[in-house]
Amino acid sequence: MKTSETCKTGGSETGGLPAEERVKRGNDKRIFVNRSLTLENIKCYGFDMDYTLAIYKSPEFETMGFELIRDRLVSVGYPHELLRYTYDPSFPTRGLVIDTLFGNLLKVDSNGNILVCSHGFYFLKSYDIKKFYPNKFIQRHDTDRFHNLSTLFNLSETYLYACLMDFFTRCSRYENLTTGFQHGDLLMTFRSMFQDVRDAMDHIHNNGVLKDRTIKNLEKFVEKIPNLPYFLTRIKDVAKVFLATNSDYMYTEAIMRYLLETCVTTSGPRKPWRSYFDLIVVDTKKPQFFGEGTVLRQVDTDTGKLRIGTYTGDLQHGTVYSGGSSDVICDLLKVQGKDILYVGDHIFGDILKSKKRQGWKTFLVVPELTKELEVWEKKRGLFEELKRLDVFLAELHKNVDSTDPEILDIQYRMKVLTYRMDVAYSQMGSLLRSGSRQTLFSSQLLRYADLYSTSCINLVHYPLNYLFLAPPVLMAHEMTSSDNTTDMEAVI
Ligand SMILES: [Mg+2]
Repeated sequence: MKTSETCKTGGSETGGLPAEERVKRGNDKRIFVNRSLTLENIKCYGFDMDYTLAIYKSPEFETMGFELIRDRLVSVGYPHELLRYTYDPSFPTRGLVIDTLFGNLLKVDSNGNILVCSHGFYFLKSYDIKKFYPNKFIQRHDTDRFHNLSTLFNLSETYLYACLMDFFTRCSRYENLTTGFQHGDLLMTFRSMFQDVRDAMDHIHNNGVLKDRTIKNLEKFVEKIPNLPYFLTRIKDVAKVFLATNSDYMYTEAIMRYLLETCVTTSGPRKPWRSYFDLIVVDTKKPQFFGEGTVLRQVDTDTGKLRIGTYTGDLQHGTVYSGGSSDVICDLLKVQGKDILYVGDHIFGDILKSKKRQGWKTFLVVPELTKELEVWEKKRGLFEELKRLDVFLAELHKNVDSTDPEILDIQYRMKVLTYRMDVAYSQMGSLLRSGSRQTLFSSQLLRYADLYSTSCINLVHYPLNYLFLAPPVLMAHEMTSSDNTTDMEAVI
C-alpha cells in the first residue's frame, strides 16, 4: 500500500482536528494514494449512496440478505434443512469468483491464477485444485461460466452458495457428480443452483423486501456518520456536489433523510437533505450510466413517480432526476470529467467504468480496509518471513533442482505461512492478497482507484487544497542497482 501524502499549503482547514492529529492521522482516518491528485483542482465531487454515504452495518445487513434469499430458495422447493444454516461473516471475502461448472468458489489474481479454492466449506489442496484446473488457472473472461462477486451486496449470496454445496455434498439422498448432484431422475447442476441463488437475490431486490426491512429498522442496518452534514457542507462551499445512485427515489429519500436530517449537528440548523447537493440522480443503472446511459427523467418528489418524456432543460436546483448518463451530469453541472472526483464502493460499476470511460478522478471506499490494516499490522512479521523465504528459495534454485528436499521444505514452510496469514483475515483470506500474491480486486484497486480509504468521510481530515502525492513506483529493471542486490544477499 502506498501511503505517502503531502500537504501543499499546510492549510488551516483541517476539519477542526487537534494539532497532533493533523500531523499524524491514524490509519483508519487516512486516505491512501495510488496516483497523485490535487484537491484544489477538483471542481465537482460525486458520491454513490449504497455502501459509500450509507454504510450498511456488518454483519447485520448481510445476515438479513442471507436469510431472505435462503428462505426464498426454500419457498421455491429447496430442502427445509437449509433453514439450519445461519450467516457466518468469518467465511466469505468480497471479490471471489464462482465457477458454475464445478461449483467452486475461487480467489484469483489479476491473470486468473488460482490462489484459494473451496467447494462448500471444504478447502481444496493444491493437488485437488489441479484435478479441476490443470494449470491452476481460469479464463476469467468466460463470463458465461465464471461470475465475479465483487460487491458487498454479493457477500450473502457468496455464503449461501457455499451452504448449498456443503448441504448437498453431505446429504445422503443426493449423489455427488462432477458438475452437480443427482437425486433419482432429478439432476441439479452447479450452474442451475447458481442461477437459483441469483434469481432469489433479484427477487428480494425487485419485490422491495430488502429495502422495506432496511427502512423499517434504519438504526439496526445503517451507520449514522455524525459529521456527514458538516462534511458535505464544507465540500459544497468550494465545489459542486452530486449524488448518483442506482437506488430508486423513495429508498434514497428514506436513507438520506436518516443520514442528514436526523443527525445532531454542530454545523448549524438542520437542512433538507436535498439542499446538500447541486444535483441528485437516482436509478442511474451504473455501469451503463458511464456509457450510453438511459433516458433522463424528472422525479415527482411527492409521489416518487417519474415524469414522462426526456428532460432537456437546464439544471433546476432541488429537482431530482432519474436515469441519464455521466455525460448528462457533466452538461448539467457544466464540468469536465477531469474536474470530477467520484467516490464509490463498487470497483467495477463506480470506479473502473468512471475511470476508463470518462477519465474521472476516482476514490474507492473499502470498508474492509479497517480489518485489513489491523491484521496487516499484527501479521506483518509473517509477510516479512515469506519474503525472506522467497529470496532464499531463489538462491537454492540456482544450485539444485526443484525436487531437492530442501526446496520442498521451503515451499511447504511458505504454504504454512501463507495459510497463517490468510486465516487471520477470514476463512477465505484477505480481500487484497493471499500470502505474497495480490488478488484480482487488489490489482483493480491499484489500477483504477486514484485514492482509497475505509470511508469517504476521511476527506474531512484533509484541507480541500491538499495534494495527495503518490511515491514514484520503480519498474523491476530500475530496482536492479548494486545496492539492492547487496541488500537482498544480506538478508540471506
Ligand atoms: Mg454502492
